[in-house]
Amino acid sequence: MLHQSLENIKTPVKSAMLALVLVFAPAAWPEAQTEIPAPEFELADSSGLSFHFPANLDGPTIVLFWASWCPYCKALMPHLQSIVDEYQGQIPVLALNFRDDEDPAEYLAEYGYDFRVFPLADEVANLWGVKGTPGLFLVDGSGRILFSNFSIPEDTYPSDPADEIQSLKHYQKAARKAPFWAAQLRLAIDKVRERTADDTIIDLTHAYDADTVYWPTAPGFELEIDFKGMTDGGWYYEANTFRSAEHGGTHLDAPIHFAEGKQHADEIPLDRLIGPAVVVDVSAHAAANRDYQVSVDDFKAWEAVHGELPEGIIVLLHTGFGKLWPDRVRYMGTDERGADAVALLHFPGLHPDAAAWLVENRSIHAIGLDTPSIDYGQSEDFNSHRILFEHNIPAFENVANLERLPKIGFEVIALPMKIRGGSGGPLRIVAILP
Ligand SMILES: [Zn+2]
Repeated sequence: MLHQSLENIKTPVKSAMLALVLVFAPAAWPEAQTEIPAPEFELADSSGLSFHFPANLDGPTIVLFWASWCPYCKALMPHLQSIVDEYQGQIPVLALNFRDDEDPAEYLAEYGYDFRVFPLADEVANLWGVKGTPGLFLVDGSGRILFSNFSIPEDTYPSDPADEIQSLKHYQKAARKAPFWAAQLRLAIDKVRERTADDTIIDLTHAYDADTVYWPTAPGFELEIDFKGMTDGGWYYEANTFRSAEHGGTHLDAPIHFAEGKQHADEIPLDRLIGPAVVVDVSAHAAANRDYQVSVDDFKAWEAVHGELPEGIIVLLHTGFGKLWPDRVRYMGTDERGADAVALLHFPGLHPDAAAWLVENRSIHAIGLDTPSIDYGQSEDFNSHRILFEHNIPAFENVANLERLPKIGFEVIALPMKIRGGSGGPLRIVAILP
């Protein structure tokens, strides 16, 4: 299935690799291996900006491993550009360049391709098991592989039995294969977009169960069966009693939690809990440093792209830690319980300077994030809580599925249990996409 990788290697510079490729040629991505997560990586693009895969994905994305000398890549790229145009940029192309001596950014600019270019992707190609060019992948927003050109058996090529196509020259083969790959890719794109279209309401809530993450000092969620089964009257009946700390799982922090005289859970105006929202993505920073604190610069960088944070917006901080739920060690730094475990907490949060900047310079309605606390795990004074709550800005903690949201243009409904006099409470939070 990978024989195209051998065909592509024809220059003397590349001939040294031939032996290697021959040895390691077994198919890296057989058909059965789609729908699996592709390996994570972090790579700088041609302008030096770092990209973290899959945390920085915005949705379905084409990943192309290519080289400027590869005739198959040359034939394929116009098709990819037409996909970019057709879907109005919603299906971006990450062009990972490897085994190349040319400047890839210059090459793409020359042909007018609107792809994000990553030079020096040889290591990532290895990691992904891509032995030859082109490596053409479609991944979804969480980095699962939905399509790969390596998964198409040779004998499925229309009107080209494998033995016949073998006898053609490279450019002839490229001219036949590239549109076929592109057509298969389009089918995969349409399939994933249909799936996404059904999914306009995203649940940002972790379910409550025995694994739900609570603060180390709090007991876990308890569900007691009161009755389950057939009644004497002949009908089926279920009812339970649950017990939970206010601050566990996906939950609300009411301002009173850290600010005397401010709002309790039942006193927060509903318009603070329902409305337009944005995602500020700091997952690349947080992946490199689990004690990361979201900074003023992160908000300024977001505003440089999207404009000033609108008045009354709900801000969701995407650290990427939501994906580690409910593994306490990975999610919060420790699975120990009790007061001594609090010092062992390591997870990202909002820096108090950024909290102060938000309340002084912007007028947000609420803030949420995908970690256990708006202050980072190592905080000893919970200063971001205190600054925000002093201004009656509630917080949503342990929020789920932030990686499935766009950066802007959606609404959030965050309705906590209406506990009279509560300092917070279990929260059902959802996003509604346009
Ligand atoms: Zn809380």
